[in-house]
Parts: sequence; structure tokens; C-alpha cells
Amino acid sequence: MMREIKNILVLTLLVGLVSSPAFAQPETPVSEWTGKTILLVGAHPDDDSNSYGTLSMLQENGNEVYVLLMTTGNVGTKDPDMTRDRLAKIRRGEELRALNEIGIPEENYINLGYNDGMLEFTDRKEVVRRLVKWYRKLKPDVLFAFDPGYGYQKWLKADHRRASYLAVDAARAAEWRLIFPGQITQDGLEKHWIQEYMFYSGVEEDKNTWVDISGKHADRKFNAVSKHVSQFSSAWEDYNGSNLEAEDLPTEDRNEFLDKMRSRVYDNKKDGTTVEGFRYYKGIPDGIGHRRH
Ligand SMILES: [Zn+2]
Repeated sequence: MMREIKNILVLTLLVGLVSSPAFAQPETPVSEWTGKTILLVGAHPDDDSNSYGTLSMLQENGNEVYVLLMTTGNVGTKDPDMTRDRLAKIRRGEELRALNEIGIPEENYINLGYNDGMLEFTDRKEVVRRLVKWYRKLKPDVLFAFDPGYGYQKWLKADHRRASYLAVDAARAAEWRLIFPGQITQDGLEKHWIQEYMFYSGVEEDKNTWVDISGKHADRKFNAVSKHVSQFSSAWEDYNGSNLEAEDLPTEDRNEFLDKMRSRVYDNKKDGTTVEGFRYYKGIPDGIGHRRH
């Protein structure tokens, strides 16, 4: 009996070793992607942060990674003395410093400059046209975007809700030559079909891909999220100075902030491993929200 238990234990250990990586993956696991163009689309500076570990890995593995955010993030503050212009500059600086931590250069950051909180009310056709132009120009193989939902509508807060639809609506439009045809006939671009999608911020049970970011990519993610001082530290209520970094905060605030960021990165675990979870989809954009049985 003891021997049988021992055998089962050994077998379990072996299976565990052989089947690593243990998490569901696309046909080619994300950790093996190389030579791809990756574009993450979000609404605000920091919307990319839950993907920082995966983006860090992809950048290091020889993919070209771009981040496109639609708004400047110019209203998210409780500081009574903050202005929109000043906050937009602060958020840009924080975003660029964060991307630098994961190896993404400044020229790969695109911001469409819309006002924070107002995406819902912007001219949708105009935003889609601009997104389509970027898709046709960069020709991404993989699009990271807010998950608009899968077989239902996922309720996301205003800008995120709008960003989720804008990103995929533009993906659909980009592949049709006769939509925004001037981009093709006059600007010299080509229609482009984005075939792979990594949706973030979706419902937990719809996630089908987990990227093991443990080790250096999680550490870089921690360094990167810790650049967003104006959103998650005491500077949210009182931004005292310019280009604030964690070390500029009073000791107690700094420790509290860094603990929060540490937990955000390292407590996101699956079976004891630090991960980032996504809903991966491959195919024509028309099927992004369809549940297939
Ligand atoms: Zn956001």
C-alpha cells in the first residue's frame, strides 16, 4: 500500500514536470512567439499595466511591441489643485517610464489625445478611422484589447467599455479595402487583417490563456507599475512636485504604495505561479464575441 502511494506520488511529480508549462496556451505558446508585431490598445495610461509581464516577455523575445492609448488620462485625480494639462503631461511621463522598464521605446507609444472620461461621447467614426490607419500602418499580428465580452456584453467602466468596441470595430474595418478607402488609394496603406487577439480585463471564466511571467518579467512589471505614482499613491490626492517617482514619496506613503503594487503583480497567481490571464481568439474579427459550442 505504501509503495503504491509512493508510486502515485512519483508519477504525479513526473507528470507535473513533463506537462510544464501547465497553463492553457494558443497552438504556439505565447512564450514562444517571436517576429510578431504586437499592438496593445487601451483607453488610459496604465490600461496596459496588467499585460506588462507578457509585453516584457514578447519584447525580449524579438517581437515588435506597440502601445496605443486613446486618452491622455487627464482627469483621474482627487488633487483639488491639479489641472488637465498638467495631469496629461504627468501621465505621459509615467507611461513612458513604465514602458521603458519593460523595454518598449518611446517611439512605440502612441496616444490619440482624447479627453479622459469622454470616449463615450467622441465621434466614433473618427476614432475608428484613426485606429484603422494605425492598424494598416503597423500591421499587427496580435491585438491586445479590453475584452468586449464573449456571448454577452461585458460591463466595463465608460472609457474601457467604449475602447473595447472601438478596438475591435477598427480591426474589422481595417480588413475591408472599401472602408476608409482613401487610406489605401491616397496614403499608400494596405488593408490589414489582424488574426490573433489577446483580450484583457475580461470575465475570469472566459480566460483561456495564462502567461507565466514569474521571475524577471514579473519583476520588470513591478518596476513598471510602480511608475504610475499619480494613480495609486498618496499623489493621487496631493501631487506635490514634478515627475514624481516612488522614492519621492514620504516613507510611509511609499511603502504603502509599493506594497499595493507588489501585491497587484505577485498575488496574481495560478497554481502558485505568477501569471497574466487573457482570452485568446484567432480568426476573423466577426467572431470575437461569438460563443461557439
Ligand atoms: Zn483605464
